Formats: sequence, C-alpha cells, structure tokens
Amino acid sequence: MRVANLQGRAAFITPENLAIDIERASSGALPHDPMQLFERWAQVRKLAATVHGGVPFAAADLDAPSPLPRQIFGIGLNYREHAVETGAPIPDTPLTFTKFASAVNKPFGDIPIEVSTTDWEIELVVVIGSGGRNIAESAAWDAVAGLCVGQDISDRVLQRATQPPQFNLGKSRRGYAPFGPWLVDATTVSNRDALALTCTLNGEVVQQSNSSDLIFSIPQLVAYLSSIVELCPGDAIFTGTPSGVGGARTPPRFLTSGDVLVSTIDGVGSITNHCV
Ligand code: ZN
Repeated sequence: MRVANLQGRAAFITPENLAIDIERASSGALPHDPMQLFERWAQVRKLAATVHGGVPFAAADLDAPSPLPRQIFGIGLNYREHAVETGAPIPDTPLTFTKFASAVNKPFGDIPIEVSTTDWEIELVVVIGSGGRNIAESAAWDAVAGLCVGQDISDRVLQRATQPPQFNLGKSRRGYAPFGPWLVDATTVSNRDALALTCTLNGEVVQQSNSSDLIFSIPQLVAYLSSIVELCPGDAIFTGTPSGVGGARTPPRFLTSGDVLVSTIDGVGSITNHCV
C-alpha cells in the first residue's frame, strides 16, 4: 500500500501509479486531511484492500506525506561509514536533533540555496502511525505508518556554529526537509531492514548504501525515542545518512543553484529536488 498527499488530499497510489482519493473511496468515512489519517491507519489499510481504478496525477502535485508533523527527529552518524568520514566516534546512543517543522518541503520541491555550505544527505524516513510512549522494540514496526525517502539538507557552517554544536537550526532552513514521494506501508515491504539507497547529484552517484548498515535500526530508534518523548501520529524520523556527503569530501563540495538532487530508495520511491 502506498499513500500520498496530493495537494492536501490523501490518496492511495496504485501499482499502475494512479491516484485514488481516500475520502471519496471511503464515502466520507475517512477524512481527506493526511494528518488525520495516521491514528486511523488500520482503517486505511483495510480500505486499501478494497479499492480499484484511479486517475493519473502529476508528480509536482505531490506534497509531503506528513505535511504538518508535530515532531521531526533527525539521527546523526547512524551509518558506520558516515561516522568514520566525519571523524566522529561511533555513537553508543542515537545522536538526536530536531528538524523544525517549517523546513518541510515537497518531494519534488525546490531547495533554496541561501548559503554556500548547503549539503545533501539521503535518508530513509519513518512516519509514525498511532504513536505512543514506551513502544517496545518488538512492537515498533506496528507503530510505523510507512517509509519514504527524504533529504536532510544541512547548512554545515550553521550546524557547527556553536560549541558544543547544536544541529537544529543548521538542519532547518527553508526547504531543508523534503520527503516523499509517498508512504509505503511498512507491513508490505519485505526487505524493510535492508533497503538500497542511492543519491545522485546532476546524474553522478554521490551516496550509495543500504539501510542494513544502520547502527541503530528503525525498531531501536522508535523504542529509544518513545522511551523519552511521546511519538505523535505523523511524526517523522530522518534515520541518518550514509557516507558520501559533500562537506566530508576533499575538497568539500556543496550544492549550488541549478544542481539537481535525485534520492532513491529501492522498493520505496524516488524524489527529485532542484536547487534554486
Ligand atoms: Zn542526517
């Protein structure tokens, strides 16, 4: 099952890439607002099994699958090779920061280049379903509505402007959190713990890895975060980026206007962001 946000209305995306409006398909039993569906995800799943048909849609009309999350978590240094390339020790606790919600961007949205140190980070993004506190690792996948592709765009100078560094603002400039193109129901992804990620910049592969290399797995992250804060319906977790970011290169390489960033996770989807 794939669920997209088409101009503010939740829609199933069929295997033929056609859209089925969820409110209409449910005869009004389910709301059109994607944010109101996460706590009723079991109903969404049930409805998905009964629908057919659909209409074509434009990728540009896709909005973030959770457009107004109450919380967006970012996990730093969660791939072994990326931790090594940044020169940081392998963390023994998830290094957690915030991407403020005003940074949410469409999956095919433009990224404004406002500083010369804007960097890319492909990430597997988890969106929470009904949520809660103290979710056990064994129950964590049940708390997840779906998976999607994200870019944890970062201003590397702002990210380390203070000592000790506080990542939050450097991860939250305008347009810095594109994700989508839709949510793939985690219960229907057979290899959800081993997903291939590829990020290209102007056609050149800059990041290539597999989510099986995550230091902290998705169930571990859900259990850890929910042991401290309440996870709310629609919350997003950017689970970390593999090696190959621009700031860790010699010489460093950053995004400039005109660049095209394509981020793909096999079995999940692909998003494209133009730097402007
Ligand atoms: Zn990141």
